[in-house]
Amino acid sequence: ESSIVIVGAGQAGLSTAEKLRANGFVGSLTLIGDEADAPYQRPPLSKAYLLGELERGRLKLKAEDWYAKNRIALRLGTRVASIDRGRRRVCLADGGMFAYDRLVLATGSTARKLPQAISRGLTGILTIRTLADIDTLRPALKRRGKLLVIGGGYIGLEIAAVARGLGMTVDVVEAADRPLARVASAETARAVEDLHRSRGVTFHLGKAVDELLGTDHVAGAKLDDGTIIAADVVVAGIGGMPQTALAAEAGLVVDNGMAVDAYGRTDDPFIWAAGDCANFSLPGGGLRMESVGNAIDSADLVARNIMGAREPYKPKPWFWSDQFDLKLQIAGLSRPGDTVVVRHGAGPGRSHWYYRQGQFVAVDGLNAPRDYLIGKRLLAASASPDPAQVADPVLALEALAS
Ligand code: FAD
Repeated sequence: ESSIVIVGAGQAGLSTAEKLRANGFVGSLTLIGDEADAPYQRPPLSKAYLLGELERGRLKLKAEDWYAKNRIALRLGTRVASIDRGRRRVCLADGGMFAYDRLVLATGSTARKLPQAISRGLTGILTIRTLADIDTLRPALKRRGKLLVIGGGYIGLEIAAVARGLGMTVDVVEAADRPLARVASAETARAVEDLHRSRGVTFHLGKAVDELLGTDHVAGAKLDDGTIIAADVVVAGIGGMPQTALAAEAGLVVDNGMAVDAYGRTDDPFIWAAGDCANFSLPGGGLRMESVGNAIDSADLVARNIMGAREPYKPKPWFWSDQFDLKLQIAGLSRPGDTVVVRHGAGPGRSHWYYRQGQFVAVDGLNAPRDYLIGKRLLAASASPDPAQVADPVLALEALAS
C-alpha cells in the first residue's frame, strides 16, 4: 500500500487530500501544516471575519471529524524542514520524519514584508496572511485612530474598507497610478477607487513610502514626494511570495514558484505541487496564480494525475473581492488593450465584458452576480456572445447562454 504526504495544510493541500480520496486513493495520506489551526479559508480574513461578521469556527474548511472519517492524518503545528529525495521522506523541524511514495508541495505563499530600511524595526507594522495575523490586527483596528495601507491591491483595499467601516481614518499609498493596477482592468479599478473615495479613503497614487516614522511604535510615513502621513497602524499589502525554500533546498527547479509541468509535476517524478506555490508551464507561458479557484482546481488536477490520469492544466480563473457594499466577481483574465463592453442591468450593479480579437475572454461583475455567473458559464463553453447584445440592457442575458 502506498503513501502520499502533502506539505501545507491550506486550501490546496486540503483539496488535494480530498480529491485523492474522491479518486479512489486508499493508501495512507498525511497532511502536514505549520499553522496551529486546521485548514481554514483565508478570504474572509480581510473581509467578513475582520469586520466581526463571521465567527472563527465558520472559517474551517472541514469539520473536525472529517479527517478521521477520510483517514487523513492531519499534523498541525508541524514544519517540514527538508526533503530527502533519495530516501523519499520528509524531515520535520521537530526531528520526526515521514516516508512517501508521492509528495505534494502545497506550501502557499507568504506576505511580502517591507524592507528594513523602510520599516526601521518599528512596531505596529503588519502583514496579513494568517489567522494569527488577524489576531494581531484586530485590537489595533478596535482602537480606531489612523490606518495607513501600503499597496493598493485586493488585500490592502479590503482592509481599508473594513477599517473605514470601523470608523478609522484611512490612507492608501500605491506606487502605480491606480489601485489594483496589476490585478484588475482600468474600468473596474476606477469603479473601486471611486467607491473608496466616496467612503472617505484618501489615496496617494504614483507615490512610494520612503520611510516609516516613529521611535518605537510607528507614528507615520514619509512619502517620496515629501508628504507626511500620520498613522497609528500600518498594513503592508505589497503582494505575496511563493514559499519555495523547501523545494529549492531539495534541488528542485524554482522559478517564480515551484516549476511544474502542465500536469503539476516537478522535475522529480515523485514530487508534485499545487496552489499558490506552483508555477505551471503551459503553452502560453508560465502560470502562477494566488486564488482559491486556482488552489482548488490545481489540487484537483494533481490528485487526478497522481491517480493515473494525464490531463494538462486548463485554468479557468475566477476571483472575488468584497469592499464596502461592493461584491466584485471576476472570471477569466482581462488584459490592457482588451475591448470593454459595459452592461447595465436592471438592478444597481453592472458588469464589464472583455473581448480580445473579437473573442470574449473575461467578465467582471460589480454587484451583478447573475451577469457574472452567465459570463463564467459562457467562458467555460468558450462561447463569445455578441457585444451589442451584451450591452443591450433590455435583452435578458439568459438568452445568450442558452
Ligand atoms: P496557503 O493557503 O497559503 O496554504 C499553505 C500552507 O502551507 C500554509 O498554512 C503554510 O503555513 C503552510 N506551509 C508552508 N511551508 C510549510 C512547511 N515547510 N511545513 C509545513 N507547512 C508549511 N483568493 C480568492 O480567490 N479570493 C479572495 O477573496 C481572496 N482573499 C484573500 C484574502 C487574504 C487576506 C489572503 C491572505 C488571501 C486571499 N486570497 C483570496 C488568496 C487565497 O487565500 C490563496 O490563493 C489560497 O489560500 C492559496 O492556497 P494554498 O493552499 O496554495 O496556500
